[in-house]
Amino acid sequence: MLDFLKARPRTEPAAGKAVPAKPARGKTAVTFAAHLCFEHVFRRYGDTYALQDVTLDVAPSKVLCLLGPSGCGKTTLLRIAAGVERPSAGRVLIDDEEVAGPNRFVPPEKRGVGLMFQDFALFPHLSILDNVAFGLRSLTKTEARAEAQAALDRVGLGHYAREYPHILSGGEQQRVALARAIAPRPGVLLMDEPFSGLDSRLRESMREDTLAIVHEARATCIVVTHDAEEAMRMGDSVVLMRAGRVVQTGTAPELYRAPKDIFAARTFSDLNEMPTRIAGGRAATPLGTFGAGGLADGTQAIVCVRQGGMRLLAAGQGTPGRVLDTRFLGDVGLVEVAVEGLDNPVFSRMREADVPATGSEVGVAVDEGAVLVFAAENGAETPTP
Ligand code: ADP
Repeated sequence: MLDFLKARPRTEPAAGKAVPAKPARGKTAVTFAAHLCFEHVFRRYGDTYALQDVTLDVAPSKVLCLLGPSGCGKTTLLRIAAGVERPSAGRVLIDDEEVAGPNRFVPPEKRGVGLMFQDFALFPHLSILDNVAFGLRSLTKTEARAEAQAALDRVGLGHYAREYPHILSGGEQQRVALARAIAPRPGVLLMDEPFSGLDSRLRESMREDTLAIVHEARATCIVVTHDAEEAMRMGDSVVLMRAGRVVQTGTAPELYRAPKDIFAARTFSDLNEMPTRIAGGRAATPLGTFGAGGLADGTQAIVCVRQGGMRLLAAGQGTPGRVLDTRFLGDVGLVEVAVEGLDNPVFSRMREADVPATGSEVGVAVDEGAVLVFAAENGAETPTP
């Protein structure tokens, strides 16, 4: 936790006086998941805004994933929730109580918030038990060790309590970090890219295990990630951010099926993109003509087709094409096809068993359900149904 507090220079604006929110949670037996709200939060560094008008509601005991490219403000929002950064404007509320705002600032240790970070560091000279007990300062040493042991048991590492961190694998270190975060029984758990240091298979199992532990701990949770798949797998809801702003909020299926703009669409699936101009209420392409998604005639648009919706047929059906390359991805194959009338090749994702040979002539057709149409400029238009 301390490493996190020191992780970045803090340039806090003079804000309200620091006051405690409520008594520290101490050794209460039950965690009450907290309700966390951000209201019109801004964070400015010099002339640039890291956050602009962010309003979010994280329901008790739910997992919310903050998703977006590097530099879009995810960590800043987390640090503001934790209380190690102050908003330049706006408010943060935990259980309807203002913990950061124009007139009030509750310090991190009084917020009932637990933290877990990618670059967490365990103290090498402390036993694993003492590493976990480290944040339990409001308890006696005996109580703290009992709570730490319980947290280690929860993450399945109780048997390592007396050992030292150097014996742990990367995944085990991550579990200890999780135990340290949940040991004080926080109402809110904040995780910043918690699995990005792990290899892909370990990451997968750690995600599942972490979700199970978080649910069992009954904490409200924010997970920061730049990985759309991770966000969709972990989040009860997903918040997509770009350049300090919230682009779209919803469940994973909502964001996947109805992305608000082309940035959101590109985040959630691999797309084939074909430029066109809307005419007669339709978007015409060499692969067919589609609904204009509410765009006015004359609008420069991009017709997007998900790779799974680009179908390859026998030559003579659909639009003529030729297979340029194929890639083996396990159960599915990715096929690159040059299509008559299109400047760029398209990609089709299909059953590996059906992948045609490189060089073969094929027909190409599009599943209408895999089509999204957006305006080309800034991409802030509604998709087709
Ligand atoms: P993310 O977590 O999405 O990668 P960050 O929240 O770390 O994004 O950063 C958002 C923006 O705020 C970036 O442009 C970053 O350079 C800037 N920023 C973050 N912290 C500071 C700071 N202490 N001083 C100046 N600029 C900062």
